[in-house]
Amino acid sequence: MREYPYVVVRFRCHVCERGGDARLAVLERKYGPGALIGGLLRIFVSGCPWDPLSPARKPQKYGMRCGAYLPDLNSGRPPDLPPSTTA
Ligand SMILES: [Zn+2]
Repeated sequence: MREYPYVVVRFRCHVCERGGDARLAVLERKYGPGALIGGLLRIFVSGCPWDPLSPARKPQKYGMRCGAYLPDLNSGRPPDLPPSTTA
């Protein structure tokens, strides 16, 4: 998570149209600076009705599953500057 280049972490899902934005600093405070971005994505997926690992859902081999992803990771957008350098 320390390497995440953006100030705001954006979560999006292909399937359920959910989305969530969270400031990296807030996530760090909540989950600790050692939290992995993949783990945070997993937390986001767990709130999705299409969560493939949800115990409430019966296994569906070809069923819909959550398409959560991080749109910024492959966007090619230049990294945000640390807040301290923009003040
Ligand atoms: Zn989803």
